[in-house]
Amino acid sequence: NFSLEGKVALVTGAAYGIGLAIAQAYAEAGAKIVFNCSRQETVDRGLKAYKELGIDAKGYLCDVTDEEAVKAMVTDIEATVGTIDILVNNAGIIKRIPMEEMNVEDFRRVVDVDLIAPYICAKAVIPGMIKKGHGKIINICSMMSELGRETVSAYAAAKGGLKMLTRNICSEYGEHNIQCNGIGPGYIATDQTAPLREIQPDGSRHPFDQFIISKTPAARWGTPEDLMGPAVFLASDASNFVNGHVLYVDGGILA
Ligand code: NAD
Repeated sequence: NFSLEGKVALVTGAAYGIGLAIAQAYAEAGAKIVFNCSRQETVDRGLKAYKELGIDAKGYLCDVTDEEAVKAMVTDIEATVGTIDILVNNAGIIKRIPMEEMNVEDFRRVVDVDLIAPYICAKAVIPGMIKKGHGKIINICSMMSELGRETVSAYAAAKGGLKMLTRNICSEYGEHNIQCNGIGPGYIATDQTAPLREIQPDGSRHPFDQFIISKTPAARWGTPEDLMGPAVFLASDASNFVNGHVLYVDGGILA
């Protein structure tokens, strides 16, 4: 069944965009929502968004790359809300810089947020899941888990790694009834991709925007709402024998 009644879901970086839509879907399916962001103004933006949606969400100021802060957050969630049943590693960043112009600090930051932080968060919630006898970990991957493109070397390296972390958590913790799967969004219209949709000075569409629409069988950008159903499926008992996979939600672009 697809119900998340009574479950506790931590969705990282879920103040807006994909994370907010996933958290909204979980709340509608009955889950209690907790989210975190690395800046107070983003936490406040998230709290306002949840209030407008009529969702009673708890927001934490916590940078997912800071292991001590993540541990403290998880301990507090367990004490005040309950043991986490569902973790969605959604917080992510992208830096679009040609590889030879990128510096090591920029590359490292992307790997830190997009690959090492999901490991830190999974590590923090797994003991509670083992005790509870079940758990769902959902890693927000990308089409770049499968392919490379110009200017996204660090992102592709991190998201490719995240796909393999997903498989590894499945192998290592499947016996504890923990399912770890990924969602690979296609091109989704959010703040992260807004620069790719900017209207050009001559009034034409951004070349990348034209490219996406021409290459996607669905002939449109995805929306955060497109991720809601797949995210509920992978968090619910309906997917209890689905483990270690990435579900691409891309309008067919990878086909
Ligand atoms: P977004 O930039 O709109 O939102 C990202 C969120 O992560 C923000 O709330 C931000 O505050 C949070 N965040 C960033 N760094 C953080 C940190 N260190 N600690 C805590 N929170 C942090 O992005 P989005 O488009 O909604 O993307 C969400 C996820 O989906 C990301 O992992 C992204 O890589 C992935 N994704 C997006 C697309 C797309 O087309 N938009 C495609 C594939 C994958």
